[in-house]
Amino acid sequence: MTYDGHTGTDISIRSFKTMDSGVYIYAAADGKVVRWHDGEFDRSTEWKGGGLGNFIGLIHQDSLFTFYGHMVKHSLLVKMGDYVKAGQVLGKVGSSGNSKVPHLHFEVRDKYKRVIDPFSGDCQKVTPSLWISQPPYDLRFYLIEQGFIPYRAGFDLLKERYGVRDTFYTDVDSVITFWLHIHGLQMGKIIRADWYEPNGKLHCSYSLRWKRVWWRDFATPYIKMPDKIGKWTVKFYVDGDLITSGNFCVMRRKQQTD
Ligand SMILES: [Zn+2]
Repeated sequence: MTYDGHTGTDISIRSFKTMDSGVYIYAAADGKVVRWHDGEFDRSTEWKGGGLGNFIGLIHQDSLFTFYGHMVKHSLLVKMGDYVKAGQVLGKVGSSGNSKVPHLHFEVRDKYKRVIDPFSGDCQKVTPSLWISQPPYDLRFYLIEQGFIPYRAGFDLLKERYGVRDTFYTDVDSVITFWLHIHGLQMGKIIRADWYEPNGKLHCSYSLRWKRVWWRDFATPYIKMPDKIGKWTVKFYVDGDLITSGNFCVMRRKQQTD
């Protein structure tokens, strides 16, 4: 997805865990490596400058340039001056440079360094698509992943899935957050979380109007640590439609062996 003021297409992967499993970046076309930078920290969760971080730039026969940004440190498999083939592995998707989540920043420029949109569609009707086969634009709403954490969402921690678990302890934890990684949640939607006690009684309901516009985002409803022992349920709604539910356990004391 792209957005105003951005010069490329961001292709996100699910999580840092996915990044650690190794997701390859492939050359979009035959070309020669003319830009190359490596050695930068690759687990950035904030926009703090640093441009494309670890990146590769290729020049192609038609004088177009392609850039591949935010790569994993020391994952670059080609060197300056190398000739590469379309589909050749260049390195791995990371979060180096000015990056909040692991993703590939893919950018195309012409010989005058002007930004080119390689996709055609409603926002770009001037030139045909540069892709051999352009994938459809994914406007769908769907849940990517969900879970529980024992803290109010600090997004850097949540992005690393720090502390994810589904058992909580009345004498250890102070909050329970239900985190939902969501694709395509539109601004203006009403999200709601209903929390149910082990006996099935509604404990509380939390709702708000969604104000952000990111294609992938986290919703993070939470409750203060309850004292009722047992298996709890939380149901998550968007505009009144049930999207998902989750269960967690509340226990009295953290076991010594844990
Ligand atoms: Zn980008």
